[in-house]
Amino acid sequence: MTTKENPKTFCPMPGINAGMLTLQDLERITELVRKYNIPMVKVTGAQRLFFHGLEPEKHKELVQELGLPPKPPHARNRVHYVQACPGKNWCKFGVKSTESIAKAINGLVLDGPLPYKVKVGISGCRICCCESWMRDIGLVAEKNGWRLIFGGNAAGKPRIGDLIAEGLSDDETVEMIKKTLNYYLTTAKYKTRSARFMERVGIEELKKNVLE
Ligand code: SF4
Repeated sequence: MTTKENPKTFCPMPGINAGMLTLQDLERITELVRKYNIPMVKVTGAQRLFFHGLEPEKHKELVQELGLPPKPPHARNRVHYVQACPGKNWCKFGVKSTESIAKAINGLVLDGPLPYKVKVGISGCRICCCESWMRDIGLVAEKNGWRLIFGGNAAGKPRIGDLIAEGLSDDETVEMIKKTLNYYLTTAKYKTRSARFMERVGIEELKKNVLE
């Protein structure tokens, strides 16, 4: 007996903020799943939500209903995604809130296109549930402020990121991320991930250019 293969279509649910779902979000998702008979809903490792397996016609209708462009343009002067743990507001171990800083980093507009994807992981304490040492930009909360890490990667060639600074306030952190990424985008070759860039440049050279 042969089985029909699932269509390999997928569509993101817009507006899901670092995987935090309200009752309204859940009701809207349920409504869409029922309406389109969506075969699979996937929460990704990046804390986003994707609808999978719709027939192309249905997929097109869903994309239209969600107001998504048919082929989303990649905004290369922004970070690719921000992943954040529940932080102090929701977790008993958290020493800092993660929500407002996640939003501020998501909204950062840089001076030009980034060489490659930049993924951000924000952890509300040193237990580091968002694997911040293995993201392009990692933040780890300490009682005296944020530790800022750059150049980590968890893919085929993993790398532990380098610590740029610590004891930072929210505003100082966002400002330093902006400086770091602007330095990266003006110095790295196109398609060089931050991990490979840091192997070439080194933390001391980066600090010289980013820290005043
Ligand atoms: S990193 Fe810390 S604050 Fe965040 S979810 Fe894990 S234990 Fe909680």
